Amino acid sequence: MVWAFIVAALLDQKPLFGFNASSVQTELSWEARVDSSIDPRDQAQWMRTLTARPHHVGSAYGLINAEFMLKLYQSWGYDAQIERFYVLFPTPKTRLLEMGSWRAKLFEPTIPSDPTGKASSEALPLYNCYSIDGDVKGKLVYVNYGVPKDYDTLEAHGIDIKGKIVIARYGGSWRGIKPKVAAEHGAIGCIIYSDPRDDGYGQGDVYPKGGWRNEDGGQRGSVADMPIYPGDPLTPGYGATKDAKRIALKDAITLTKIPVLPISYGDAKPLIESLQGPMAPPDWRGGLPVPYHLGPSTTDVHLKVAFNWDTVEARDVIAKLPGSQYPDEWVIRGNHHDAWVYGAQDPISGQVAMLNEAKALGGLVKDGWRPKRTIVFCSWDGEEPGLLGSTEWLETHLDELTQKAVAYVNTDSNSRGFVGLEGAHSLERFLNEVVRDVQDPETKVSVLERAKARAAVNAAPAEKEAALTGDIKIGALGSGSDYSSFIQHAGIAAIDLGYGGEGDGSQYHSTYDSYDWVMRFSDPGLVYGGVLSETGARVVMRLADADELPFEFTHLAKTVEGYLKELSALEDSMRLETQEQNKLIEDGTLSKSFDPTKTNVAPKPKDVPPFLNLAPLQNAVARLAKAANALEVKRKSSAVPDSVLIATERALLGPGLPGRPWYRHTVVAPGLYTGYGVKTFPGVREAIEQRHWKEAEDQTVIAAAALDRLSSILEKASQ
Ligand SMILES: [Zn+2]
Repeated sequence: MVWAFIVAALLDQKPLFGFNASSVQTELSWEARVDSSIDPRDQAQWMRTLTARPHHVGSAYGLINAEFMLKLYQSWGYDAQIERFYVLFPTPKTRLLEMGSWRAKLFEPTIPSDPTGKASSEALPLYNCYSIDGDVKGKLVYVNYGVPKDYDTLEAHGIDIKGKIVIARYGGSWRGIKPKVAAEHGAIGCIIYSDPRDDGYGQGDVYPKGGWRNEDGGQRGSVADMPIYPGDPLTPGYGATKDAKRIALKDAITLTKIPVLPISYGDAKPLIESLQGPMAPPDWRGGLPVPYHLGPSTTDVHLKVAFNWDTVEARDVIAKLPGSQYPDEWVIRGNHHDAWVYGAQDPISGQVAMLNEAKALGGLVKDGWRPKRTIVFCSWDGEEPGLLGSTEWLETHLDELTQKAVAYVNTDSNSRGFVGLEGAHSLERFLNEVVRDVQDPETKVSVLERAKARAAVNAAPAEKEAALTGDIKIGALGSGSDYSSFIQHAGIAAIDLGYGGEGDGSQYHSTYDSYDWVMRFSDPGLVYGGVLSETGARVVMRLADADELPFEFTHLAKTVEGYLKELSALEDSMRLETQEQNKLIEDGTLSKSFDPTKTNVAPKPKDVPPFLNLAPLQNAVARLAKAANALEVKRKSSAVPDSVLIATERALLGPGLPGRPWYRHTVVAPGLYTGYGVKTFPGVREAIEQRHWKEAEDQTVIAAAALDRLSSILEKASQ
C-alpha cells in the first residue's frame, strides 16, 4: 500500500493501516464525530444505576442490570437480546475461622462516609468461589505467596506441610494457584489474606481517608483451576445451555481439593502472630507489625466452609449492528457486567465506557454511517467466578464464530493512567496506530507518546532510544478476563485494552469498590472512561470499516523469535543452575554453609537438562519471518483478502496442551502454575520448567507445525 501512503502524504493526511487513501478522510471524520459524542457524564449516570445494588451472576439486581442494558442497546438501534446460560455458582452457607477463643470477623462494615459501598444483605460475603466444602483443624504454616518455589524454601527449612492449614498472602500468582499447590503438598486447608505491604497501608492511606485497602477489606474471587479450563465447571468444552448434559459435581476437576477462605489483614494479624518456628526469609515478610515466622503454630486453627451448590442463570446481553458489505464478518467487543459486590471499577468502569461506544456508534448510524463488517457488543455475565458468560457463549457458538469472527476486543476495569495493550501480535502495528490518534486528557499528548515516555524512562540504558522510536510492544494474553476463550480456545485474534497505573488505590473485589471510591480515587469524573471509549471505538470502527483487515505479521514474527530465544535461554540457565547446585550438594559445600543451630534440609540433586532439539521451532520461526516480509512486499501492489487474514490466528491452534486440551493456542496460554500470568510457547516452556524433556521436544514439533501452517497461508497469499 505504498501508493496509498504517498497519496496520503501528498494530501497531508496521515495514512491509516488497512484504508485506501480515498477512504481515510471519511473514516477520520466519523471518528471525530464519535469523540465529540462521548460523554463521561453519561458514563457516570450509568455507573450509578449499575452499581446501586450488589450484582453478582444470578442475582436479582444482575437481571435488572441486564434488562437495563438491553433497553439501552435497543434504544440506540441495535438488534439486541439477552442470551441465558445455566451455570454452577456456589455461594457461602457457613464460614468459620477460629483459633482458641479468637474468631475471625470476615466482615466488611459500612463506612459512614460511603453510602454507595455499604454492607448489604444482598452482598456476597468474603469467600472464594469454587472452594469445596470442608471442616478442618490443624496447625498453621505461612507459605508466602504459596507458589511452587515457596514450598522448596519451606522444605529447606524442614517445615512439613502435610496435615497443616496454610496461610498465603495474595499476589505472586493468580489466587487459584495457592490452594492447588497447597493441596499438592498435603495441606488440608488454605487461607488467603491481603497483606498491607502489598495491598494496604504499605501503599498509601487506607479507605476512606485514602484509596487503599483498610484492615477490614478483603478480596473475594474465584479459585477454580482455570488453567485446566475456564467456564462452567459442569459443562467442560460445550455451552451450558438449559438442556446441556452436566457432569456430576464430584467429577468437576476445576473445583479445589481443599477448603479455601480469603480474609482481611485485620483478621490475619492474630494468625500470623501465632506462628512459631524459624523466621521467614526477609522477602517473605509483609507489612503487619509482627514478626513473620514460618510456623507451625502451637495452637490449632479451625476452618469451616460450606456452600449452596446452586445452578444460576447467567445473562449475556448481545447487541448486533449488521455490516453493510460483509455481514458475515464479525468484530466482537466485550466487557463483563457482573461484579463481586458493587464493582464500580471492576467491571462497571469498563462496561460504561463500552456502552458509551455503543451509543456513539448508534448515533453515527442515524447520521448515515454503516460499518462494512458486523459489530457485536457483548455485556458478559459471570466473568468473576470463571469467565462463565463469555466462555459458554463462545462454546455454544464455536462453529459460527470460527467462521465469522474477525477479532475480539476486550476491556474490564479502567482507571486513570497509561494505556495498556495486550493481544494477538498480528494486531500490534494496528494498535500502535490507534493509540497514536487518541489524546491523553491531562497531558494533551497522544496516549501513545505517554506510554512510550514511561517505557523509555523505565527501560535499561541501552534500550531507551528504541523504546522512544519503535512501536510499543503489546503484551501476550494470559488469562484474567473474557478474551481467554476467544484466543486460546477458538484462535480468534483478541485484544485487551485499558487505562491504569495512576489511580490512587485499590479495592479489588471488595465491597468498597464503590461509585464514591471510583469518583474519589480511581478515575475522578470518569475522564479516563471517556478516553477508553475513544480508544475502543476506534479499534472497533477501524476493524469494521477497513478496506483490508489491518493484520500484520512482521511484528508477530519478531515477537515469536524473542519467545524462542527465551526458551533457549531457559534451557541453558536451568542446565547451568542444576550443575552448580548439584556440585554444592554433592561435595558438601552447601551443608557447610548451614547454621548448625537451625534446621536445614539440603535439597536432593536434580537431573541435568539434556541439550534439547529446538531445531524444528528455529526453522519454523525463520520461515515465518521470511513469509511475513514477503507478504508485506506483495501488499504494496494488491490487498490480501479478509478470509486469508481471518484464518491466520486459527492456524496457531494445535491439538491442545498436555493435560489441558481446552487450551489449543500454541503460542499463548495462562500458566499452569501462574494462573493469569502468560506462558509463551506454553507446551514447550512448561515441559522444560517441569523437567519433562521428551515432552518438551514433542511440543516443539507441535508448535513448529502451527507456525508452519501460518507461514503457508502467508506464502500462498504472497504468490
Ligand atoms: Zn473484571
